[in-house]
Amino acid sequence: MIPLINLKKQHSFLKKKLNSGFNEILLSNNYLNHDSISEFENKFATMHQCKYAALTSSGTTALTLILLSLKIGEKHEVITTPNTFFSTAESIIHTGAKPVFVDIDKNSLNIDVSKIENMITSKTKAIVPVHIYGNPCKLDDIKKICKKYKLFLIEDCAQSHLSSYKNKMTGSFGTASCFSFYPGKNLGALGDAGIICSNQKKLISKIKKLRNHGRKSKYIHNIVGYNFRPDSIQAKFLSIKLNYLNEWTDERIKKANIYKQNFSKISQIKLIEILPNAKHVYHLFVIVLKSKNLRDSLIKFLNNNGVSSLIHYPIPCHKQPALRHYNYKKLPISEKMSTRILSLPLCQYTSDKKIKRVCYLVKKFLNV
Ligand SMILES: *Cc1c(COP(=O)(O)O)cnc(C)c1O
Repeated sequence: MIPLINLKKQHSFLKKKLNSGFNEILLSNNYLNHDSISEFENKFATMHQCKYAALTSSGTTALTLILLSLKIGEKHEVITTPNTFFSTAESIIHTGAKPVFVDIDKNSLNIDVSKIENMITSKTKAIVPVHIYGNPCKLDDIKKICKKYKLFLIEDCAQSHLSSYKNKMTGSFGTASCFSFYPGKNLGALGDAGIICSNQKKLISKIKKLRNHGRKSKYIHNIVGYNFRPDSIQAKFLSIKLNYLNEWTDERIKKANIYKQNFSKISQIKLIEILPNAKHVYHLFVIVLKSKNLRDSLIKFLNNNGVSSLIHYPIPCHKQPALRHYNYKKLPISEKMSTRILSLPLCQYTSDKKIKRVCYLVKKFLNV
């Protein structure tokens, strides 16, 4: 079977380094506050053109902490996209605020910026664009809207490590940004972790306090916080892997280009539109098929021929059963696209030969 991503290969390549990192933390007697945490925070922030960062227990808690630290909560609304992993909405809801979904653009599958202003009310506090699949949103236009209505811009970069727009890193455009290090992300821990990046020193210090029980010192708590702390061991693993992230990202882009060359002239397949001057880092390689039937039979055909594929995401957030009580209105583009999208195998360790095999099978299936 050709898997969607190959983590085992990544980790066997790094085995020696990861083992020695593990041993260092094992004998450090410092499992939650080792220097590996601040070292990783500094390196990661710099690579994303941000001055400060705070590592957290996950991408979900990272976004939650940003919203909480900006005092977003009950009676507030936060605008985001329905085409995202459920946790974007979950984080908003955990603060007490309501997620307001704006339909997506049919070409990029990112939030449709032209539809945002219509959804702004007196309760709106922030916009959370998600650079879905690693493909940057129209950040300059979103930023203009945020300025005009005095809203916070919070980027969900869980899928967009090292992507950029107009030569500026995603994650550096707004008040703060969150990233995920879920194992399958472009940079993944060996478990859960996430990070917040920002250029605002005060905000990051508040977040660092909130992530650790609102502590001022060991037993003095001057605010009520959370246990959203990172593990020293995950910071160590992430530091080791971060040295390869540039190289890995280039590899992903090269492999995505093989798909793009093969699919560019096929009328039944549409490729995701990338903005001029945007760098897509291909957390996922997603194609759009002409119809649901065609998509669903392609999944079966690939599976029968030893190729995994997945749908990101089969149910737009506003249609999730857990959010039924909000009675969201129909968002026709995201609903339609969720029936036609398909993610094909891609990671830095998928060989070119395997990518070509997938291309061959897709073309064979489509009779082209
Ligand atoms: C993965 C992901 C998250 C959540 O990150 P976790 O580390 O799994 O908590 C949030 N938003 C998006 C878009 C994601 O892909």
